[in-house]
Amino acid sequence: MMMENALFESHFDLIPFGIYVVDAASYRIVYSNRAFYEHFGHHAGKVCHEALYERAEPCPWCRLGELLTPQGLPSGETRVFEHFNESDDRWYQMQVRAMTWPDGRVVRYAIGVDISELKDTQNRLAEAHARLALTNIELARLSTTDMLTGLANRQHTEHLLLAGLGELGRQGRQLSLIMFDIDHFKAVNDRYGHLRGDDVLRALADLLRQTVPAGLGVGRWGGEEFLICCSGLGLAEACVLAEKLRLAVAGLDLTGVGRLTCSFGVAEARAGESAVTLLARVDNALYAAKGLGRDRVEMG
Ligand code: GH3
Ligand code: MG
Ligand code: MG
Repeated sequence: MMMENALFESHFDLIPFGIYVVDAASYRIVYSNRAFYEHFGHHAGKVCHEALYERAEPCPWCRLGELLTPQGLPSGETRVFEHFNESDDRWYQMQVRAMTWPDGRVVRYAIGVDISELKDTQNRLAEAHARLALTNIELARLSTTDMLTGLANRQHTEHLLLAGLGELGRQGRQLSLIMFDIDHFKAVNDRYGHLRGDDVLRALADLLRQTVPAGLGVGRWGGEEFLICCSGLGLAEACVLAEKLRLAVAGLDLTGVGRLTCSFGVAEARAGESAVTLLARVDNALYAAKGLGRDRVEMG
């Protein structure tokens, strides 16, 4: 061995990551440094895919072809990629390049830096991100949903109302509100107990989900009071929907409770009207429906 080779090898043996050199024509291992052979064993002179990976053919991730010119000379290009090594179950960042060996042969050298710990951290970070994204979706759902009925909660219903008013202002899209309240609900609680009362509220929410067209916002406005933001509906159409709901509620036979009715107020938003005055009008309409004998729809 020439003097400079010994010097070069002793230097390369100090490098803490594996380096190995393969003959481009025969895939035989020409050289490996200490870090490489201490981990993978001595394979000098052996065909690399056979010795290292027990493969009959060159490995699919071998970039040798990409590193040579059509004439088979080193292209001067360096390829860096991450590679999971199945023989030792570790991740490596590989840097590969073709070069001319001192004896004139074209070879490919590879430097493999073990990045398994980094990969592990990356994976755990990615998992944590995914979990956080799911938690955020769940939190968003919880913060907008009424827990008893699964309908939009008061805050979210207000948000839907303001969005509807915004569309009215910008695009002239109609907006009507339906507010309704269970008739004599206190008597249900008094007679059948609060838990049965809760069941009634849930059954009513199910009925709303089945009856109110998709795209309209249905929220629990108060204890036994509901608000429907009918975006795109004028007063007459909203009244038709309210009447349909009134009949549907009256037709419901509630387990252990029997029949119930609701009173409805309906109002259509006027151009430039605030949420406060619109809500006051629909609330007055509902109050009027109660005053006129309940189980009816009144316009505000
Ligand atoms: P009206 O026909 O005038 O609306 O009579 P009402 O008895 O329905 O009206 P009132 O406002 O006097 O009573 C509403 C009742 O709704 C009182 C309250 O106990 C009940 N309530 C409010 N929230 C809930 C709830 O989450 N669960 C149950 N079970 N009852 C509730
Ligand atoms: Mg009531
Ligand atoms: Mg009430």
